[in-house]
Amino acid sequence: MYINTTGLVLRETEYKESSRILTVLTGTEGKLTVSARGAKRKGSKTASATQFLSYSQMTLYRGRDNHWTLTEAAGIELFEGLREELERLSLGAYFAEVMENVSDEDAPNPEILALGLNSLYALSENLRPAEVIKAGFELKMMALAGFEPMLEGCSVCGEMMPEKCRLDLVGGLIYCHKCGGADELTAALSSGALAAMRYILNAEPKRIFSFSLGELAMGELSRAAERYLQIQMDREFKTLEYYKKIKI
Ligand SMILES: [Zn+2]
Repeated sequence: MYINTTGLVLRETEYKESSRILTVLTGTEGKLTVSARGAKRKGSKTASATQFLSYSQMTLYRGRDNHWTLTEAAGIELFEGLREELERLSLGAYFAEVMENVSDEDAPNPEILALGLNSLYALSENLRPAEVIKAGFELKMMALAGFEPMLEGCSVCGEMMPEKCRLDLVGGLIYCHKCGGADELTAALSSGALAAMRYILNAEPKRIFSFSLGELAMGELSRAAERYLQIQMDREFKTLEYYKKIKI
């Protein structure tokens, strides 16, 4: 069976001399493992369309053993800007690792793909500061994966506009400074950082990065979004460690 679809290459492994094994996030089939024979051959049209973090039109063939083979590929968006700078490329690699982690085979989630594409585009085109894109991606991705934090108000007293509060990174709830103290599984949020989180979760997909914060509140948002994702996913991301190491 042949299908035509679009897919984002989340992982690319060299296979033999001229081929690649790809992990592709498609809008129609979810996450797939695809063999791309001859994809690395010089002059091959599929070479750029099958490289890491390329978004491409793909023709795929599913054999009887359910193994997918790529028969044709043409790049739609190659995110060239990411390939010009190691810092942006490594943040893109973290986005790819997160997407791979939240996506399943045979369970298409077009919203996860769309968020990934918007985030990579914003990063590639330098549309917003990297920390804004990163926090927006992390929080919204958690919501799309079924781990949306409940930020309406303090989970104990109901206060909706606490001046200071903490996000419970395990339970995904907030509590105000009168209702609870700090511990290591919580993250501090000022009213500005809380407002930004609410904004990200409720904004139209294309608007989630359209917010600004002062330095302190941005630091709180960055820490909270990053740790929330790690704790909800119950794992660490090698690509994130690498990004943090090389970040200026
Ligand atoms: Zn309270």
